[in-house]
Amino acid sequence: MIPGSFEYFAPRSLDEAVNFLAAHREDVKILSGGQSLLPLMKMRLSKPEFVVDIGRIPGLDTITQEGNHIVIGAMVTHAQIEYSDFLNKNCPLLPRTATTIADVQVRNRGTIGGSVAHADPAGDMPATILALDAEIKVVGPNGERWIKCQDFFLGLLMSVLEPDEIVTAIKVPVTGNDKTAYLKAAPRSSGFAVVGVAVRMTMNAGGTCDRAAIAITGVTDKAYRAGRVEQMLAGKKLDAKLIESAAAEATHNIDVIEDINGSVEYRTQLTHVYVARAIEAALKS
Ligand SMILES: Cc1cc2nc3c(=O)[nH]c(=O)nc-3n(C[C@H](O)[C@H](O)[C@H](O)COP(=O)(O)OP(=O)(O)OC[C@H]3O[C@@H](n4cnc5c(N)ncnc54)[C@H](O)[C@@H]3O)c2cc1C
Repeated sequence: MIPGSFEYFAPRSLDEAVNFLAAHREDVKILSGGQSLLPLMKMRLSKPEFVVDIGRIPGLDTITQEGNHIVIGAMVTHAQIEYSDFLNKNCPLLPRTATTIADVQVRNRGTIGGSVAHADPAGDMPATILALDAEIKVVGPNGERWIKCQDFFLGLLMSVLEPDEIVTAIKVPVTGNDKTAYLKAAPRSSGFAVVGVAVRMTMNAGGTCDRAAIAITGVTDKAYRAGRVEQMLAGKKLDAKLIESAAAEATHNIDVIEDINGSVEYRTQLTHVYVARAIEAALKS
């Protein structure tokens, strides 16, 4: 459980970090909270020659409001999100998600930027930022770019991020009166989702669902939006029968995975049950 040898670099500015990454892009890894990278390095599944610790770069650990949006710095930890009064008031889906991640130790070190960049198919934050239609700010040698999160995740631990690009912030909306919930089924041993469901719904005064965003993690090689469920809910008054029949479409066209936590049939059924429960929980929020 000892990682291979590597050169450690702790830049004090984004420019310094990007220049170093660009110079070593073939064999470099960014270190944020280290909660995913270090286990991989200790198991020798990742053997970078260079590790760039971005924890000393100023300005990456703030939560700020910009009009109807909130910009969360990449180095903001799961624990900061969990206990942020501002987020609990203005975008409660994020803190609700953060509380379900692992244990206190992991939440104290793990960051939102690391969770997004890592693109773990069982990670919780990817589902939640998808349900929030978040945008991801990335800085690299060619300057900065904003990536819609629907375009960000490609597959198992894969995203559109280049090796010399740094995720610097995540932009989410103020969700106001929207109904939101995050629910997951996870083994106690790891806490990772067998299925995790993030829900955001806009309900009108008459009790009709104007818009639904349902995102799911743990079920296939990346988090995804359950478009068919969303379409079945939009424009309807939600009752138990509709919620159940919509939830049954949550794995439509999805290549459900099988692993030590369950067969395809088990995970499919669990997903349908958890989508229905998450919609019900959101309605009560
Ligand atoms: C015991 C345990 C249980 C866990 N349970 C859960 C769980 O239930 N749910 C869950 O979602 N997660 C879980 N995690 C993972 C945890 O949430 C990590 O914090 C997260 O996946 C990665 O964040 P990090 O800041 O630690 O990133 P790191 O480990 O530092 O980095 C992860 C990867 O992302 C890259 N990277 C990091 N930051 C950036 C950046 N800003 N820009 C570009 N690339 C970057 C790194 O190079 C590396 O490849 C668990 C981890 C452990 C150890």
